[in-house]
Amino acid sequence: MQYENSLEFARSMDEKDPLKSFRDRFHFPTFHENKEVVYFTGNSLGLQPKTVESYIKEELDAWAKFGVEGHFLAKRPWFAYHENLTQKAADIVGALPEEVVITHSLTTNLHLLMVSFYKPEGKRTKILCEAKAFPSDQYALESQVKFHGLSTEDHLVHVSPREGEELIREEDVLTKIEELGDELALVMIGGVNYYTGQLFDMKTITEAGHKVGARVGFDLAHAAGNINLKLHDWGVDFAAWCGYKYLNSSPGGVSGIFVHERHAESPELPRFAGWWGYDKETRFQMEPGFKPMRGAEGWQLSNAPVLGMAAHLASLDIFAEAGMNRIGDKRDEMTAYLEFVIDTISEKNKDRCTFEIITPRDKTKRGAQLSILAHGQGKSLFDALSSKGVVADWREPNVIRIAPMPLYNSYTDCYRFGQYLEQAIQ
Ligand SMILES: *Cc1c(COP(=O)(O)O)cnc(C)c1O
Repeated sequence: MQYENSLEFARSMDEKDPLKSFRDRFHFPTFHENKEVVYFTGNSLGLQPKTVESYIKEELDAWAKFGVEGHFLAKRPWFAYHENLTQKAADIVGALPEEVVITHSLTTNLHLLMVSFYKPEGKRTKILCEAKAFPSDQYALESQVKFHGLSTEDHLVHVSPREGEELIREEDVLTKIEELGDELALVMIGGVNYYTGQLFDMKTITEAGHKVGARVGFDLAHAAGNINLKLHDWGVDFAAWCGYKYLNSSPGGVSGIFVHERHAESPELPRFAGWWGYDKETRFQMEPGFKPMRGAEGWQLSNAPVLGMAAHLASLDIFAEAGMNRIGDKRDEMTAYLEFVIDTISEKNKDRCTFEIITPRDKTKRGAQLSILAHGQGKSLFDALSSKGVVADWREPNVIRIAPMPLYNSYTDCYRFGQYLEQAIQ
């Protein structure tokens, strides 16, 4: 399509957008003096669906009315509350229902899954991860290695971008996997890198890992609700994601885990157990000796935090209605349009500064995020953008991360971002 950097064109795109009505279902921040913010940080914290309030209110009312009996008498009994979310979350990540459970928080889940799937034995002791992974993942990986009494220098292997490059070459990941061979215990990578927005080919990486006998897991914090995932078909061993970024499920909201069907019943896997992972038919007999639920549910420790789960359910219902296919189509189109707008502004102002998009240009190698290196500009550019009402993310030394969300951002937002960007150039 021939894009134009004009308000008229952006509006015509919005007119034709099959998901345009979804924007009204979200609360847009009102704190800014420039009433209408351009909210491009759904990859940090998704906006609040207007239905969240009624979903939570329902559980507050049930609590008031039933007290503890709400576990069985609430409209959605709390005893099995998480089951309301499973199918919808499974549809988003391309999984069978028994492969998914919504529970805990993301870093907690990464630990629980690594306890099961990182089992250093004999020669096979190493973990392959991406350089500059999200800090929480780095700490989780380091502490897992140390937990087994191993040194991180020898056992945590990073794949970095090549000298002078920003992105990790997939061939370098695959080569490293082959090189490590029977020393490789686990591949653990972010499906979409939080910093560059680079999407990895999870299917190919999984196959390569399995070929050398390693387990393969992904952190999908920046992929769930963003990328069209097929975790089951790709054969991924395990994955975890948070609910509050692309999935709009409240600050610090609940997380999801995926454990492939082939591990649904694997008594040999070590795990840290809790009562909610216990076979639900006999859970309340409170017998000693842990008998796990089949599938992902067997990794639950605690009974569900119902209020947070209710917020997540409100958002999952919107995703179910919109469907990941339509979300994916708009994601690609709108991200490409935003890219066009930024390139146009960059070209027009190249005497003063340039904006280099470090996120892959290829739409099959990215999701909704664009990371922009602002050459010749410092934090003042970002501050100027913020003062106009752009809510974006700044990373030192000079990277701006923006993410147009198919459910609530518009092509007009992209156009306005471009206008503000041009005005903000020093
Ligand atoms: C956002 C994010 C986290 C955050 O972890 P929490 O446990 O939810 O605080 C972890 N890893 C990645 C890759 C993230 O993007």
